[in-house]
Amino acid sequence: MYNLNEYLRKFPKIQLILQDSDVLKLIGKYSYNAVKNKLDEILSEEKEKIKINLQKNKIPDDNIFEIKHFLLLLQEYFDNFSFSLRRVINGTGVVIHTNLGRSILPKAAVENVSKIASSYSNLEFNLEEGKRGKRYSHIEILLNKILNCEAALVVNNNAAAVFMALNTFASGIKKEVIVSRGELVEIGGSFRIPDIMKASGAQLIEVGTTNKTKINDYESEINENTALLLKVHHSNFKMTGFVHEVNSKELVEIGVKYDIPVMEDLGSGSFIKLEKFGLPKEPTAQEVVNTGIDIVTFSGDKLLGGPQAGIIAGKKKYVDLIAKNPLNRAFRIDKMTLAALEAVLFEYLDIDNAIKNIPTIHLLSQNISEIKKRGFKLLNKIKKLEHICKTMYNFNINIVEDFSIVGGGAMPDYKLKTYCLSITNKIFETEKLSEIFRSLQIPIVGKIKEDTFLIDLRTVLDIDIDDIINNFKKVSQIVIEAAVKETN
Ligand SMILES: *Cc1c(COP(=O)(O)O)cnc(C)c1O
Repeated sequence: MYNLNEYLRKFPKIQLILQDSDVLKLIGKYSYNAVKNKLDEILSEEKEKIKINLQKNKIPDDNIFEIKHFLLLLQEYFDNFSFSLRRVINGTGVVIHTNLGRSILPKAAVENVSKIASSYSNLEFNLEEGKRGKRYSHIEILLNKILNCEAALVVNNNAAAVFMALNTFASGIKKEVIVSRGELVEIGGSFRIPDIMKASGAQLIEVGTTNKTKINDYESEINENTALLLKVHHSNFKMTGFVHEVNSKELVEIGVKYDIPVMEDLGSGSFIKLEKFGLPKEPTAQEVVNTGIDIVTFSGDKLLGGPQAGIIAGKKKYVDLIAKNPLNRAFRIDKMTLAALEAVLFEYLDIDNAIKNIPTIHLLSQNISEIKKRGFKLLNKIKKLEHICKTMYNFNINIVEDFSIVGGGAMPDYKLKTYCLSITNKIFETEKLSEIFRSLQIPIVGKIKEDTFLIDLRTVLDIDIDDIINNFKKVSQIVIEAAVKETN
């Protein structure tokens, strides 16, 4: 019979482990409490293991009683320690990928966020007058300049912007909002125009048909209860064939005629004419403002390439009304968003800067030959990896042509030519391979086409390159281990 207590006494004292020089390094990095709590956990697990082993008549190995054993367990845990929200490599080719965080901020924006977040700021303080200032004053001037609008306001996101505007203009009894049947869209993530309308307290009046709506359709529904004429961008779907929709300018004309405000939910809201990069023509936010529209709303983190935000721009009279809505307090943006947005808007003062410095615009306007060149450079580096060479017979890695998409509900049927790293493997099926790439410390999210795992190089950033190479080392190691297991 083995004596359990005798073994339990062999464990080093917890205070002794905590004084080990390498454990002290972990404490320096992760705090005393974090290391001590984990160590308590490890110790009780080890004790439990001994109990079970002894019951099975297994004698524990002596080295498990050494401090070194606990150091290794602690190191293993803390090496793999990471936050839940972390960086991933976007190999999907979807530039504005809502699940992967939409737009990447330009460097100047990130630096500004860091600066503003780590100190006090004049967020709501007028430095000239030495008294309370306005949170939105910092960006309103920039928006006025870029969009040539009378006034602007920024809230949490475009969904909040639309909701607030509807609630401001049309909540209460007998207040109607006229919308085309062709524009009663669902954007995804439960943003459906009819539902938003209902929640905001507005009454929806549908006009026209699914495929055709004419200006008369709006006009004939106008009555003393009409509070707003609303136009909604189709975003993630496209209507073709026998179709007609009323444009913003026509809607503004009847708005003026009957003295009813006109609003457009523009969705993505680009500031740049993207057709010059071969993308489909979309009205820019400036063009929409230019029609004389009373209110236009759009997202900050779609084609604009900034932080999550909902921008409301237009006539001062109406923007002021929305700003006074108590919901504005609930949907307001924080200083980090403001800091990022101001820096992004600043880039737009010079279009060339915007194209160069705003990642979303840069990724969309990249030259296809650049993508190809980057792909082959990466491929050569990967093929030279010792691990890959060892397992070369298992891997098939190439550069192939494919299509990227814009994402974020913009230009849904438009395909951008791209190049991808294509990977297949003899040991692992493509699904499994894709899962392995997602399981790494810096995960790669790719796409699967025709049973091949693809990493789209359009959305791969310069900072991703070394990590992709490292990931290939790790994946090939996993393949080698699996191959050994298979032959055994
Ligand atoms: C994306 C989109 C929204 C929602 O914008 P968020 O910024 O994601 O809240 C609303 N309307 C349209 C037309 C959109 O494309």
